[in-house]
Amino acid sequence: MSTAIRIGALSAVPGTRVTGLVPVDVGAATIEVPVAIVHGSPSGPRVSVTAGIHGAEYVSIAALREVVLGLDPSAVTGSLVAVLTASPAAFAARSIYVNPLDGLNLNRQFPGDRDGSPTQRLAHWLTTEVLAGSDAFVDMHCGDMNEALVSFTGIEETGDAAVDARSRELAEAYGLRYLLIGPSPGTTTTAAAALGIPAVLGEVGGQGRWPREDVDLHAAGFQRVLQAAGLIEAAPAAPAHRTEVLSTEAWIRATTSGYWHPAVVVGERVPAGSAVGEVQDAFGNVLERPIAPMDGVVIFFVSSLAMNAGDPLLALAG
Ligand SMILES: [Zn+2]
Repeated sequence: MSTAIRIGALSAVPGTRVTGLVPVDVGAATIEVPVAIVHGSPSGPRVSVTAGIHGAEYVSIAALREVVLGLDPSAVTGSLVAVLTASPAAFAARSIYVNPLDGLNLNRQFPGDRDGSPTQRLAHWLTTEVLAGSDAFVDMHCGDMNEALVSFTGIEETGDAAVDARSRELAEAYGLRYLLIGPSPGTTTTAAAALGIPAVLGEVGGQGRWPREDVDLHAAGFQRVLQAAGLIEAAPAAPAHRTEVLSTEAWIRATTSGYWHPAVVVGERVPAGSAVGEVQDAFGNVLERPIAPMDGVVIFFVSSLAMNAGDPLLALAG
């Protein structure tokens, strides 16, 4: 029996790193997904990781490339399967939120559909070819091109105490400022949970930028997760701050289109009932003044002046 790890036509035997573009037939097109397999040894955990589920989230994509391409297979116990840019058409188009092939948000379509639209087929491919069979899964994100956010990790509660405890350990190893615990239907971590795989979402930075300090924070956190998963022995030290756990979340969405003037900043604690900003028309008239529905920390807010009805304005967690 071969001990090679295979993704599409890529095959990595123990002691090697293999990289390449993997063709994925999504119906309307065949896309080429950049994948790296770092295979240390046949025994040991298999960890899978994705970045670029949202194509304009550059801190996560830059951090994953740095870690994976710098990883020495001889220092790895087990294997790492890394999807370096999970939605290549969205990356190429610099697309916010959605895959331009069908206008769907990939991180709302998991576990996907083999016979569905391009995004649904891509989600199905990632679920069956990348997530399935993993001992742990990491999904690296950041604020989108139009979003500022405070760094946080997110995990699900699956009802399986052992899986949940492991996800919690991985999130704590990431060491970001906040840990959000709660359901997120249609996402990678929900698909992983359904397969009984401990999983963590990591979010650092945003707004179409990838400053060195954000890439370093994301990369160091991811390396600590690999260490906690038993894949590598050494990782950068954890930051000094304590991670604060937040278990309820509220997204506030625009009901009108116009000019968005937020009145809060990321990480700010906002009391229930306070105005979080206003949407104005072209002439400065106030169209709406959204109110915080709960006490909470501003996890992210949209930083573009342009606002469309139905889009998120910001999210609170408490
Ligand atoms: Zn994202």
